[in-house]
Amino acid sequence: SDGHGTLTHAFVIFSDITSPRETESRLQHLANFDTVTGLPNRLLLSQLLGQTLTQAKRDNGLGAVLVVQLLRLSHIYDTLGHEVGDDLVAQAGQRLKQALREQDILSRLGHDKLAIALPNMRKHEHAALVAHKVLALLRPAYAVGGLAVDCPVSVGIALYPDNGMDTAALLRCAELANQRAVAADPPLAYFSQEMNERATERFRVEGELRHALAHGELLLYHQPKVSLRTGRIVGAEALVRWQHPRLGLLGPGHFVPIAEDSGLILELGDWVLHEACRQLRDWQARGLAMPPLAVNLSARQFDKYLPKRLDALLATHDLAPQQLKLEITESLMVRGADEVIPIMNELAAMGLGIALDDFGTGYSSLAYLKKFPITTLKIDRAFVTGIPHQGDDCAIARAIVTMGQQMRQEIVAEGVETTAQMAFLRALGCDQLQGYLFSPPVPAADYERLVQQDIRLPLH
Ligand code: C2E
Ligand code: MG
Ligand code: MG
Repeated sequence: SDGHGTLTHAFVIFSDITSPRETESRLQHLANFDTVTGLPNRLLLSQLLGQTLTQAKRDNGLGAVLVVQLLRLSHIYDTLGHEVGDDLVAQAGQRLKQALREQDILSRLGHDKLAIALPNMRKHEHAALVAHKVLALLRPAYAVGGLAVDCPVSVGIALYPDNGMDTAALLRCAELANQRAVAADPPLAYFSQEMNERATERFRVEGELRHALAHGELLLYHQPKVSLRTGRIVGAEALVRWQHPRLGLLGPGHFVPIAEDSGLILELGDWVLHEACRQLRDWQARGLAMPPLAVNLSARQFDKYLPKRLDALLATHDLAPQQLKLEITESLMVRGADEVIPIMNELAAMGLGIALDDFGTGYSSLAYLKKFPITTLKIDRAFVTGIPHQGDDCAIARAIVTMGQQMRQEIVAEGVETTAQMAFLRALGCDQLQGYLFSPPVPAADYERLVQQDIRLPLH
C-alpha cells in the first residue's frame, strides 16, 4: 500500500504479483469468493455443499440449507448508494459468521441473498433454531454511511435428505421456501412439496400463456357502464379472457397474477391495448357510434415511455384520446409517487381519461388522491356488496361519493348486482354503475348489440 487510496487494491492485484503460481491463486480466490463480503460465492458454495452431501450420503447425515434474503437491500443500494449497500451486506455477513459453527458454510448466493449450509445436524429442529438466531442477529439496525439503517430479512429452509440430495435441488427448495417466508410472520418457512407443485404449475401456465399470446388465444370481453341519470350505456371496460385449448374460457384471476410475477404482463398489456384500439377502430370504420373503452393497466406498464407508446398507438388506429380510458390502481405507487405522478399528468394532458380502480382497498388513498389527475373513481365491489344493509359499507360509499364530487371526479360503482344497491348508490349521487345487474362482461359483438339497440337500465 502506498497511501494512494482505493486505487491501490487494483494495482496490487495486477502488478505486485511476481510468480505465476501466486497469480493463479489470486485469480482462484476472485473466482470463488465474493469481493464485498469475503464469503464464498455461489460457485464455491456448490462445491462445498456437494462435498458435504457426498459425505452425508455415506453416513446418513442430516442437514439443512437456509437462504437468507436481505429484503430492502436493493432499495438501500438505490437510495443510499453502492458503498452503503456493500457495507451493509458485509456487516450482515460478519454478524452471521461470528454466530455459526466452524463446519457451517456461509456464502453470498446472489445480490441480496446469503446461504447457510448446516451439515451434521443431530435433529432437523436445529435448523429452526438457527433460522430464529439469524432473524435475531440481523434485526438490529446497521451503522452505515453515518446512519442507522434497518434491513429486514426472510429465511427459507430446505432439509436433507428429505428435500433432496443434490446442491441445485436443495438451493431451489430453499429459494422457494424463502418466497413464502417473505410474507410470513415470523418471516421464515420450510420447503414443502406443495410449494414445488405450485411453482411447477406456475411455470407451466407461464409457458402456455406465452404460447397463447403468440397464437391468438386471448380475447377481450366488454362490460358496459351505465349512467345512473339516464340508464344508458356510457362506456365499457375491456376485460381480458383466455380461450384455453384444454381448460376453456379462463378469467384473469387464473393468469394475470402469474403474468405479473413473470414479467409477461408487459406483453399481455401491450396486446390488450392493441386489441382495444383495433376494436375501437373497427367500430369507427363501420360507422358505429360507440362510447369510450377502458383498459386496465398494470403497475409494470406504467413507465416513462407509456405516454409516447399510447400516442403512437392512437395515431396508428386513427383514434381520438377521448375514446380510450385507462384504469389504474393504487398499487402503482410502489413505483414511487415522484416517478408516477408526472407520467399521469402527461397522460391527462394528452386527453386520456384516468380512472382509479378498486378505490378504497389501497393503503394510501387520501394522501395521493388530490395529487392524481384522476377523472374517475371506481368504488370497489367490496363496499358495494354490503349496501344497503351494512352500515360500514354504506358510510364508506357515501364518503367516497362526497369526496369524488368535491374533486369533480366521475364516480362509478363496481359490481352492482341488485336494484337495492342501485337505488342506494343513485340516491348518494353516484354517476355510473357497472355490474351484473345490467350486464356481466360479454363478447364484443354482444356489447356492440347492447349499444346499438340502446338497451337501458330501468332506474325505477
Ligand atoms: P377490475 O378491473 O376491478 O374488473 C372488475 C371485475 O369485477 C371483473 O372481473 C368483472 O367481471 C367483475 N364484476 C363486474 N361486475 C360484477 C358483479 O356484479 N358481481 C361480481 N361478483 N363481479 C363483477 P374479471 O374480469 O375477472 O377481472 C378481474 C380483475 O382482473 C380486474 O378487476 C382487473 O384488475 C384484472 N384484469 C382484467 N383484465 C385485465 C387486463 O387486461 N390487464 C390487467 N393488467 N388486468 C386485468
Ligand atoms: Mg378495472
Ligand atoms: Mg375494480
